[in-house]
Amino acid sequence: LLETLLDQTASAIERVGLAGKVEATRLEAETERLRAALLTSISHDLRTPLVSITGAVSSLRGYGDSYDPAQRDELLRTVEEEAARLNRFISNLLAMTRLESGTIDAAHDAVDLEEVVGTALERVRPVLDPSRISFAPEGDLPAVRGDYLLLEQVLVNLLDNAAKYAVTDEQTAPLVTITARRDGDVVQIDLADNGPGIPAADLERVFDKFYRVREGDRRRAGTGLGLAICRGFVEAMGGTIKAVESANGAHFVVRLPVSQ
Ligand code: ADP
Repeated sequence: LLETLLDQTASAIERVGLAGKVEATRLEAETERLRAALLTSISHDLRTPLVSITGAVSSLRGYGDSYDPAQRDELLRTVEEEAARLNRFISNLLAMTRLESGTIDAAHDAVDLEEVVGTALERVRPVLDPSRISFAPEGDLPAVRGDYLLLEQVLVNLLDNAAKYAVTDEQTAPLVTITARRDGDVVQIDLADNGPGIPAADLERVFDKFYRVREGDRRRAGTGLGLAICRGFVEAMGGTIKAVESANGAHFVVRLPVSQ
């Protein structure tokens, strides 16, 4: 009996070992597939703006003399916009690496919200005309406790998304509305746009890495990293960020502690 039991145990161990190996091989293959998919997606996202830049530059070189100033300006603006897009994309890739390796060390400085919103608006100016954004802090806003550069990147990512997804024909209405108010020990920033919005079922998932809502969103440059980075950064500063249901467009709520 003992022998049979030992035999059965040995073959069970072997089976588990084998299953373990099969699982390890499957995981390795899956990791390799994801790595390849990520590389393809990154290469695509790097190439798209480069193709636009190269096209605009060779147009200017070849026909620049025959263009009127407005046409030249338009081409130069393309170069500027696409270079800015590349820059943001690379910042996000670096940020993701830092988040994943746990090397984000957020400063706990007193940050003036109006100042950091101003810097973020400047950075997205090539893709989002400041006249299409309304920023209205309520009352006397205290400084928030956080890291200027991380908060700037969070705002840039949210604004960049608004520019990307909230395209409307109505050119006069503000595309993005930012409000900020004190709520006890916290400052709440609401950032809403009037685009297609985020379906209720996706409000949480949009913060997952690589998650993109609509099939059409995949055709726009982007990796699905922006909001994951926003959440990582805001949490590193001791705050929270979520997307909330809204009857009109996307609506993000960022809460950060008041600086003491
Ligand atoms: P990316 O923009 O690179 O795809 P994000 O993490 O910034 O990555 O966003 C994830 C997804 O959330 C987007 O692909 C899009 O489907 C959706 N999304 C984000 N912001 C908005 C917005 N302002 N309006 C509509 N959909 C949005």
